[in-house]
This record gives sequence, structure tokens and C-alpha cells, in this order.
Amino acid sequence: MADEVARRAELADNLGEVRGRLEQACAAAGRNVGEVSLVAVTKTWPAADVVALAELGIRDVGENRDQEAAAKHAVCLESSVAGIKDVRWHFIGQVQTNKARSIARYSDIVQAVDRSAVVVALSRGAEAAQRRVGVCLQVSLEQGPAGEQSPARGGVMPRDVEGLADEVESAPHIDLLGLMTVAPLGEEPRSAYERFAGVVEDFQRNHPQATLVSAGMSGDLEAAVASGATHVRIGTALLGHRPKVR
Ligand SMILES: *Cc1c(COP(=O)(O)O)cnc(C)c1O
Repeated sequence: MADEVARRAELADNLGEVRGRLEQACAAAGRNVGEVSLVAVTKTWPAADVVALAELGIRDVGENRDQEAAAKHAVCLESSVAGIKDVRWHFIGQVQTNKARSIARYSDIVQAVDRSAVVVALSRGAEAAQRRVGVCLQVSLEQGPAGEQSPARGGVMPRDVEGLADEVESAPHIDLLGLMTVAPLGEEPRSAYERFAGVVEDFQRNHPQATLVSAGMSGDLEAAVASGATHVRIGTALLGHRPKVR
């Protein structure tokens, strides 16, 4: 019990700091803080942390492994804490097609869709679960030597976004919500996110309803907010350092 109280105080402190950073980043970018949603990345942390964060006002959580997320979601369904039923579950990891059916059961938004097979599998999974699932395409910003891009961390190449977006829009049980990205290692996040903003601009010309822009993590949320992120995905700064097992 004492541990629980201490953990809640720690989460409240961290949340205060992250919200402060978001406010400053929005002010610096001339944006309203209400335009940016904070997705708490709870991967590796227990369901009790999700519940505590919901009590503190968090309404978006991010998970990246199906088994872990499904179990946590089930525990949270049993909780009677205010707000927990309103939490949107974001799946932010790579989707394996054989996990899509399970992921579609509890995910409200699957953020890292990057290939046709996943589009098809998620739509089938959503149909089986008799629900709709929101989808973001993960854009790869990797730039190899001589401008050749390599999909090292997953994601669809900018030139292939439009084709995949069309496939999502034709899939009957999923909804295209927007784009997400992960800043490449070894590149200044600010320049990567500026490039991403260009991809978003082109994309939104054809898909004006798909306004979700997911970018920014604990280390670089300011740069992402400056480039128009509507969702930042924050793990470490909120929950602490994850054990180094993955
Ligand atoms: C783990 C993870 C995050 C959170 O990263 P932190 O640096 O801990 O804030 C964000 N996005 C993705 C895709 C992740 O896997």
C-alpha cells in the first residue's frame, strides 16, 4: 500500500513535469496545449500504473507487445477507477500479421501500420471483434548513404504513403486517422520532424480528415511539437527507466 502511494506520487510528479514541458513547447511553437495529446507509453510497466495514470487524467496509453497489452487491457477492464473506461489504447509497436486479430480486439488506434498484409489482417481482426479500429501509417524517415533509404526501424517510405493510405481507406473495418514516425538514430530530431511535416502536408492534401500526427518521445517532444505533432508518445519521462531487457 505504501509502495502504491509512493508510485502514484512519483507518477503525479513526472506527469506535472511532462505537462510543463508540453506547455512550454506549445507556447514556443505558438500552439494551444489542447492540440497535443499525451500518450503514456506504459510498455513494461504494470496495469496498476495504467490505472494510476487514468486517475491522474491520462486518456491515451501506448503499448508495443500484444501479449503484454492484452493482459493489461483485461486487468484495466476490471478496474472501477474514474476515467479508466475512457482510456484509448494505442498499439505503437510493429504489428505481426498473426497478432493482428488479437491486437484489433483491444486497440483503439494501431499506430505503426506499414504494409498491405497488416492492413488486411487488421481489418479482418476488427470485423471479427465487431468493432472499428483506427490506423496510422508509420512513415520511415531513414536516409542511408547517397539518399538511399533503408527501412531499419519499420515504416513505409514517404513515396509509398499514398498507395498504402488508399488501401486503408478501401479496407472495410478500419479507419485512416493519420501518420506516425520515429526519429532516426543519429539524426537531429528537429530536422527529421521537419521532413516528416512535409510528408504530413502532402498526405493531408488528399486525406484532410486524417489529422493525427504522432511524433516525439521523452527526449525530443519539443522538436515534435514544433513540427506539428498532435500526439506525443512518452514513456521514460513519465514512468521512469524501463528495465534493459528489450
Ligand atoms: C517506447 C516507445 C516510445 C517511448 O519512448 P521514451 O523514450 O521512453 O519516451 C515512443 N514511441 C515508440 C514507438 C516506442 O516504442
